[in-house]
Amino acid sequence: MQAPIDKMKYKGEDALSLNAFIYRERGILIGYFLCGLCAAYIFDHSEKHPGVQTPLHGRIEQNLIAAYHKHLSSLNA
Ligand SMILES: [Zn+2]
Repeated sequence: MQAPIDKMKYKGEDALSLNAFIYRERGILIGYFLCGLCAAYIFDHSEKHPGVQTPLHGRIEQNLIAAYHKHLSSLNA
């Protein structure tokens, strides 16, 4: 989902959704913000299925890994 990255309400407080994962092949940590729509979806999912990653996480991570490789190849140009 694409929507502006903006603060969301979490437990009644304004919050930003900062996420990160380790890209093991390269040993780097990739961090990202979620838009309010995706953040709300993931929070909702994690309450219903604690400890289970959503399919959305997998798609986001694959996109970020692809973007990271694109960035690396641009450095060699
Ligand atoms: Zn989104």
